[in-house]
Amino acid sequence: MKDTYRHKGMRKKLVEELRRKGISDESVLNAIEALPRHFFLDKAFEEWAYKDKPFPIGKEQTISQPYTVAYQTSLLDVKKRDKILEIGTGSGYQAALLAMLGARVYTIERQEALYEKAKALLSELKLGNIRCYLRDGYKGLPEFAPFDKVIVTAGAPEVPQPLLEQLAIGGIMVIPVGENVQRMHRITRLSEDKYNDELLANFRFVPLLKGLNPND
Ligand code: SAH
Repeated sequence: MKDTYRHKGMRKKLVEELRRKGISDESVLNAIEALPRHFFLDKAFEEWAYKDKPFPIGKEQTISQPYTVAYQTSLLDVKKRDKILEIGTGSGYQAALLAMLGARVYTIERQEALYEKAKALLSELKLGNIRCYLRDGYKGLPEFAPFDKVIVTAGAPEVPQPLLEQLAIGGIMVIPVGENVQRMHRITRLSEDKYNDELLANFRFVPLLKGLNPND
């Protein structure tokens, strides 16, 4: 895999575009500028990697639009060493970005083919601390809870209760909620049984599906 000056130039332009669209978190913008997004798309689609667009990655799934990744990552307020749970590994790009920000990342995917591909790519890139799991993300990873942050990168019909329970007190969850259009929620856990729920902008994600189904 090659990262050329041309790729770097395209990333710089993408970051300028994200800035114009209102992303202002410098650590997130720096990480986007540093991480080759074209590594996460098939070689034939390299040119698409630096457009601010979602893109198909197979199995009817998409790598999220850079703006959406930047928006969700900014809301998470990532600190070095944060323990972060991601639901929906997909291409692995979001997980890689969180690792570049110094987080310890646990990411779950329900599609076996995507899981295998992302796992191989992420270990090849050696970006740091990322563990991949083939599971149903609705249930989270109770054996590794609590998490400082939880990020859901598929549209959830409702906020899964297990994910609320696995959030550390003081922790933040960023999750798009809704059926056709999703409203971004930032949920902060204030105490054992109190949560603050902020409703933010609307997005369109592929759906969070129930259960593991290697055939779909
Ligand atoms: N974060 C990804 C994009 C995710 S697209 C990236 O950076 O490329 C949403 C992903 O969520 C898809 O890969 C889909 O298969 C996965 N998904 C949907 N429902 C899920 C569930 N219940 N558990 C885990 N993953 C799920």
